[in-house]
Amino acid sequence: MTQQYPKADQFMANTHEVENQPQPLENYNLYLADTALQSAVEREGASWAFSDLIAFGELAGQRESIERGFQANKYQPELRTHDRYGHRIDQVDFHPSYHQLMTTAIEHGLHASPWSDPKPGAHVARAAKYYLHTQVEAAHGCPITMTFAAIPALRHQPNLLREWAPKIMARTYDPSNRPHTEKSAVTIGMAMTEKQGGSDVRRNTTRAYPIGQTGPGEAYELVGHKWFVSAPMCDAFLVLAQTDNGLSCFLVPR
Ligand SMILES: Cc1cc2nc3c(=O)[nH]c(=O)nc-3n(C[C@H](O)[C@H](O)[C@H](O)COP(=O)(O)OP(=O)(O)OC[C@H]3O[C@@H](n4cnc5c(N)ncnc54)[C@H](O)[C@@H]3O)c2cc1C
Repeated sequence: MTQQYPKADQFMANTHEVENQPQPLENYNLYLADTALQSAVEREGASWAFSDLIAFGELAGQRESIERGFQANKYQPELRTHDRYGHRIDQVDFHPSYHQLMTTAIEHGLHASPWSDPKPGAHVARAAKYYLHTQVEAAHGCPITMTFAAIPALRHQPNLLREWAPKIMARTYDPSNRPHTEKSAVTIGMAMTEKQGGSDVRRNTTRAYPIGQTGPGEAYELVGHKWFVSAPMCDAFLVLAQTDNGLSCFLVPR
């Protein structure tokens, strides 16, 4: 005679009630849960950002935000070298969750707020927000950080700064694969590392050849290999290359 089991037990191999598991850590305020961060923000002079940080901590701790972090890593970027008509496009497609993380980061100024709204504590407030958002997902922090770091480098070349800074500091995210001249918001990547050199970039072998005049702000052709360019869909890259006067830094639109 066949023994009758409750339906749920037939397939699920139910054994006993598991009672010692914690609830998932979600729908909580990342900032308010972090007393060390709160006191650091106060100590370092950004108490004025408390309410903004509380709101951002609430957003970052939402289940939807955390889920985006998991999805952006589960559905990995895909390189599409050609379009359907055979044109070379070299486009990297990211999951929508990644784009949403980028949107949130940029709308909240993680990529530029101390440059666009400079004041005492501005770097602290930005660092705190960044710290919260990289707990949700770390990899999008790479293009966000590089975009952030581009402004001090561009300050060495005022004509480039004038052209690029408003687009870098814009609080909108535009991931479209179009030339920067057609966009009002851009992200900046970096191509410093080469196969032979990460820390010691003076060993880089990429060469810069002047197209016309030599010197700061002039156009150069770069010849060499870069390595570990981890945010290839940025709109432009700070690229290191050797000139006759030693290593220099070039802004190369994608
Ligand atoms: C996730 C990720 C993303 C990256 N994205 C980018 C990117 O977008 N663009 C880009 O240009 N690069 C990128 N990089 C490369 C990164 O900049 C290099 O990995 C880094 O500079 C270290 O270089 P390396 O890996 O060649 O290590 P090495 O320079 O070979 O260093 C190896 C070890 O030696 C130590 N060391 C090196 N020099 C010294 C010294 N003088 N004294 C004492 N110790 C020393 C280092 O601390 C390290 O432990 C990325 C790397 C990672 C891991």
